[in-house]
Amino acid sequence: MKDFSKEIKAYALKNALEFGTAEAGKILTKLFQHGLDKKDIKNILPDIQAIVKKVNAMDNDQRGEEYASLGDIVKTHEEKEKDLPPLPNTEKGVITRIPPEPSKYLHLGHALSFLLNSIYAERYKGKCLLRFEDANPEKVTQEYVNAMLDDIKEYLHIKFDSMKYVSDDIPLLYTYAEQLIEKGKAYMCFCDRDTMQELRHSGKECEHRKINVKENLEHWKQFLAGKYKEGEAVLRIKGDMQHDNHVMRDAALFRMIDKPHFRQKTKYKVWPLYDFYNPIEDSIMGVTHILRTNEFEQRMPLQDMIKELLKLKRQTVVQYGRFSVIDATTKGREIRELIESGDYIGWDDPRLMTLRALRRRGIRKEVLYELVKQTGLSKYEVHLDFDMIAAISRKLIDKETSRYYFVEDPVELKIDKKPNLKSVKIPIHPDKDEMRTVEVDSIYISKKDLKELKGKEVRLLHLYNVKLPATGNKAVFTSLENKPIPKIQWVSSSVPARVLMPNAKWVQGLAESGIKSLKVDDLIQFERFGFVRLDSKKENEFWYTHR
Ligand SMILES: [Zn+2]
Repeated sequence: MKDFSKEIKAYALKNALEFGTAEAGKILTKLFQHGLDKKDIKNILPDIQAIVKKVNAMDNDQRGEEYASLGDIVKTHEEKEKDLPPLPNTEKGVITRIPPEPSKYLHLGHALSFLLNSIYAERYKGKCLLRFEDANPEKVTQEYVNAMLDDIKEYLHIKFDSMKYVSDDIPLLYTYAEQLIEKGKAYMCFCDRDTMQELRHSGKECEHRKINVKENLEHWKQFLAGKYKEGEAVLRIKGDMQHDNHVMRDAALFRMIDKPHFRQKTKYKVWPLYDFYNPIEDSIMGVTHILRTNEFEQRMPLQDMIKELLKLKRQTVVQYGRFSVIDATTKGREIRELIESGDYIGWDDPRLMTLRALRRRGIRKEVLYELVKQTGLSKYEVHLDFDMIAAISRKLIDKETSRYYFVEDPVELKIDKKPNLKSVKIPIHPDKDEMRTVEVDSIYISKKDLKELKGKEVRLLHLYNVKLPATGNKAVFTSLENKPIPKIQWVSSSVPARVLMPNAKWVQGLAESGIKSLKVDDLIQFERFGFVRLDSKKENEFWYTHR
């Protein structure tokens, strides 16, 4: 039998840290996942009990300390287990779709739902279709289409098999509307907004519901011809004005919008609503699987009714908890106002969770792929914040990211009796042997370090030790020996650089001159400061990624 003592201890510690005491039974079931054979249960039980006893006798500090070294056993295993669950009904292939409305820039929540669709299509060797739902001329623009395409292709690297615009299908959607009218299932309504709201609220039918098919078709033709003004008429589905689900109470299917459309210009004035075009498009595009958040649940009966009346194919619907971003606004209108007022620098303002902002801060697409694996298809709402992204990203980039020195708010340190060192070798990464050479002349440290450590002996990292002055900037060299004293960052033969922080404020400083060989988009770590992405070489501008 394999030695499971490390696994036992890791789970016992986790158990005890979470619940106060560890239990042998819970640990045993975990061991099967690590290869324990059922016939060995009897042999392993005494080991488990002995370790549980020891762990239960520890205090939490001690448990935490030991778990720090053993916890990886549990974590690595749990990560391996975390993957997206299989989809139902995949025998006849899988076609998924990504249906954004081009009315704002994409944010993290969009990215995760897009990735779900593309990952599943790929997993089942199916197709993923992109559909711009551009049926509201008041909100949609070419700018948003371009930005979305750029995010989808250049940032997320999603491969879609075809792309279309709902607005190209308007004539087809009109014929579907006519079918409903001819069947007596849709009618032209001329009630004003308030009247209709009142009728829907009280569950009463309006007078226009009784108009016969022939007359309705006449009205519809005039509607399309532009006879009615905005708000004067709509086409409604004949639902059930007493239905418990208010969505079913004669929802509007088409309304008049007298604004030019960015693609169709002034070709159409009557535009379909979401609950009408969305199910029709899914069917005619041959979509097999709709992955959607459960906030659409109430709208499903209406969409199903439309599909049934039009004899359109239904899809397998997989619902999941919606992704909500909790530490930044995702409301298009709010963001637009913040940009217009000059408070935010743009859709990529570092305070936002738009894909623009994440990308510019240096969040790699792999981070979002990992995040979707960890959160995807949850039953409940998933709250997303930047810390989740940072945790995944740090793990991903830490090993491959070179280190550089950066001193914020620098002040020159005059050092008395300093050794005559022309340059010093510093590892490019704490875990690597590769060295970089840093030239030494005038030394700068941050004003903050000078103030906080005044009068103390400190080590200038990888250089030597000095005693900082109580006032002023004249320090004294003490020794070369690396001993346990505070270590601080320094720069020499440096270049000015600045970093845009998550609060959108710039931090000015000096960076070691090695950063001159970096390329735009390179990710590095300014030691003891944080990870940063080079945004512009002109002024050595970096964007702060995370700590
Ligand atoms: Zn009416």
